[in-house]
Amino acid sequence: MSRIVYVNGEYLPEEDAKISVFDRGFLMGDGVYEVSSILDGKLVDNAAHIARLERSLSELKMDWPCTKEELLEIQREILRLNNVTEGAVYWQITRGAADRDFVFPKNPKSSLVMFTQAKNIVDVPAAKTGISVITVPDIRWHRRDIKTVQLLASSMAKMAALEAGANDAWQVETGYVTEGSSNNAFIVTQDETIVTRNLSNDILHGITRRVILELAEKENLTVDIRPFTPDEAYGAAEAFITSASSFVMPVVKIDDHKIGTGTPGPIAVKLRKLYIEIARADAA
Ligand code: PMP
Repeated sequence: MSRIVYVNGEYLPEEDAKISVFDRGFLMGDGVYEVSSILDGKLVDNAAHIARLERSLSELKMDWPCTKEELLEIQREILRLNNVTEGAVYWQITRGAADRDFVFPKNPKSSLVMFTQAKNIVDVPAAKTGISVITVPDIRWHRRDIKTVQLLASSMAKMAALEAGANDAWQVETGYVTEGSSNNAFIVTQDETIVTRNLSNDILHGITRRVILELAEKENLTVDIRPFTPDEAYGAAEAFITSASSFVMPVVKIDDHKIGTGTPGPIAVKLRKLYIEIARADAA
């Protein structure tokens, strides 16, 4: 059975869902998106994802295609229609269709597309083994704080990782790790300090990152918000990534360096467990 997806006011089987050839998301990457994870049929950290979408739209002077309340109704309906209990909901807003021009159209009609992905996100083998990452140059544009659909550089980083036999890539700029291909990067130093890069236009302001930092504070863990180099990461006691779809995922190898014992570290494992508990409890 095919999925039901949402396209500009209609719920359609995915093979019938169509977008204009002139959609600026397609022609120019002129669009933004969000992903909320789904646990027990409910949305995780969804209000924060909607708030970040609002900021992305505003930074690009793009209009909302509907109200926030309508967006939430569409999310709930698409979960219901596809009967998804665990996985993710993806939604994308573009500036809509207009004849190709670098100038924004005068009266744009923004477009909204939404679909679900049913998958296990809690009980995943990688959480037990940890993942490996390679470092790659960060070749993305300089507004990584805006969650645009321009994901080719991230896609290429991920492909470089797969070709090197690794699971993911950490991007590096002027000697420091910015973030993962689709996640925020953390290390834990030998003296048990959690280190992650400060917020700026250089990285996406991860929703999961924020919740993890709040959790770390509650757990009286020491946190140092600053950039770190690949060399520092090679010598770390632990490493991990955070994102809506991976929660907290331990990293056990960076380039050719085994991290800690080469198995998921205790802080990453604890934060993953606590995060999933809170996510389940607060999902709505
Ligand atoms: N950085 C990048 C580049 C990402 O694509 C993502 C995932 N969308 C993240 C960080 C993590 O953000 P979040 O925790 O909000 O999913």
